[in-house]
Amino acid sequence: MSEIQHPSTAQKRNASVILNRIAKRYPDVGTALDYSDAWQLLVATVLSAQTTDANVNKVVPVLFEAYPTAEDLAGANPEDVERIIFSTGYYRQKTKSIIALAGDVVEKYGGEVPADLDKLVKLRGVGRKTASVVLAEVWGIPAIAVDTHVKRVAHRLGLTANTDPVKVEADLKALYPKKRWADVSMQIIQFGRDICDAKKPRCWECPLRDRCEYENKTPRPLS
Ligand code: SF4
Repeated sequence: MSEIQHPSTAQKRNASVILNRIAKRYPDVGTALDYSDAWQLLVATVLSAQTTDANVNKVVPVLFEAYPTAEDLAGANPEDVERIIFSTGYYRQKTKSIIALAGDVVEKYGGEVPADLDKLVKLRGVGRKTASVVLAEVWGIPAIAVDTHVKRVAHRLGLTANTDPVKVEADLKALYPKKRWADVSMQIIQFGRDICDAKKPRCWECPLRDRCEYENKTPRPLS
């Protein structure tokens, strides 16, 4: 099925009810990554793959102390960087990624991270999801980040019939007004982590049970 290009009023109303209930649970969500500017958030986001935000937060102050700017990191010795970020896992690959990213920021944009989705995704290692998080978090620019949680939850709740992240993003953008875009993904990501788990969703305590199309709802466990 293609994107929801022109959702009906009923579809929009349903989408709004769903987000309102999730928002009630998570009124104030944002990234748990520590950062002071777009460059730091970009790097922290790359480092956050396959580890916790808390782990990343321990490492980034040391990293930015040693390499304050993109230029500094672009010229870094990989082995030194590997030692600093070791505890975040996949440290060799992550080192390559953040040095390449730094090189791109310097070469393409003079060391300044651009506040523009199309420009951000031209940076090595930056996909639409990361770019959207940075735009929304740092500059409050309307954007929806689609990660595995958003994709799964949106699908189960009938907000999209697609699995391709770009199409899921288009569906969600059609369903929600721009002013809610930045919250959409952050709140749904949190909901996906806490309640609508991939393998064992906590359907028995879910505030959206009555709106959910997922067929394999988990029954309340016997205590
Ligand atoms: S009822 Fe279950 S599958 Fe549906 S949204 Fe809630 S937790 Fe997810």
